[in-house]
Amino acid sequence: MINSQEIIDSIKSVINFNKESGIIPIHEPFFKGSNAYKYVKNCLDTGWVSSSGEWVTKFEQSIQSFTKSKYAIVVSNGTVALRLALFLVGVEEDCEVLMPPLSFVATANAVSHLGALPHFVDIDAQSLGLCPKALDKRLNEVADFKDDILINKYTGRKIGAVVPVHVFGLPANINEIKNICEKWKLPLVEDAAEALGSRVKDSKEFKHCGCFGDFGILSFNGNKIITSGGGGALLTNDKELALSAKHLSTTAKVPHPWNFYHDQVGWNDRLPNINAALGCSQMEIIEQNLKNKRLLHTKYTEYFENIKDLEILKEMKNSESNYWLVTMRLNVNNPERIKQNILQEAYDSKIFLRPSWQLLNELPMYKNVSCGDLRESIKQSKRLINLPSSPQLLN
Ligand SMILES: *Cc1c(COP(=O)(O)O)cnc(C)c1O
Repeated sequence: MINSQEIIDSIKSVINFNKESGIIPIHEPFFKGSNAYKYVKNCLDTGWVSSSGEWVTKFEQSIQSFTKSKYAIVVSNGTVALRLALFLVGVEEDCEVLMPPLSFVATANAVSHLGALPHFVDIDAQSLGLCPKALDKRLNEVADFKDDILINKYTGRKIGAVVPVHVFGLPANINEIKNICEKWKLPLVEDAAEALGSRVKDSKEFKHCGCFGDFGILSFNGNKIITSGGGGALLTNDKELALSAKHLSTTAKVPHPWNFYHDQVGWNDRLPNINAALGCSQMEIIEQNLKNKRLLHTKYTEYFENIKDLEILKEMKNSESNYWLVTMRLNVNNPERIKQNILQEAYDSKIFLRPSWQLLNELPMYKNVSCGDLRESIKQSKRLINLPSSPQLLN
């Protein structure tokens, strides 16, 4: 029987909790000792605070060199990055987009913003990401080619893309998912919002999450591993797609020193220079953050090792997690009550834990869309709890 007090005590030991610690949030941004102040001040001093400026290009370059993606286009947040990527791979009104139900709501919302619909497919227990077998099985059940277009034969809608999610920084089985996308000729857009710094080995080398499909997206929201205040990026190795993403995110304005000519309906998805400056300063400390997070994960694993029926999730073989949020799993048959007890007792001790999201197919706006058998998602979502994971917790 899992004892919630024992769990709270173990968390307190890991994070050196004492009376003065105050509230322990799940994940806090960290700027101390970095160039954040200097770079942001530069924007204020020069007046370049808004939608263009040199920090935008610098931020894109640092993301490219860190992820080894050929192109990186920064935008105002991860949700619009996903919406833009989906638009560019051809997702349009009345399409269906295959995705796991265990994700933040933005994954499904980005699809809805284009007038398309999510179609939920199950996860696998180890990676918590989209299950390649479930994906192939679902496609075999519902999909048919009609004039070379993949259709859901039950709804008549086009199946437009697959969006796997690298949940909590744990890489999904992306090589297998990619193979299935190729088999069914489906565009692949990776939601790597939580996975900056996570990598997966393909046949030869470790590749950054978000670099396997047509597009990958990142988020730099305040709770992610690094932040630009708010922000996101699209990753792609395709030059045409990269140019189109830049163009459409900058109101489709044809560059000219003074003329305002726009050749399509675009979006204003640009990341302001002041946010990019903050982002640049954060990219300088990402290796340090990753190191601290790995250390924190090791420490949680050690302290929880002897607690029965409880597991700290670990990266799979041939993959590297950024351990954005360290996650524990309650390996018991009826985890609901014990989960509530743990969350309540932690809250009373001013330690904020987080249950995994309510499944997307259970939310009012998505409860009537198509779903495969979601058995594993339902099972897992009941037993996952995220632990405080700020990189500075061990300082
Ligand atoms: C944070 C997040 C997003 C959205 O990013 P924002 O920058 O907050 O818009 C999308 N998907 C997942 C899985 C996320 O965690």
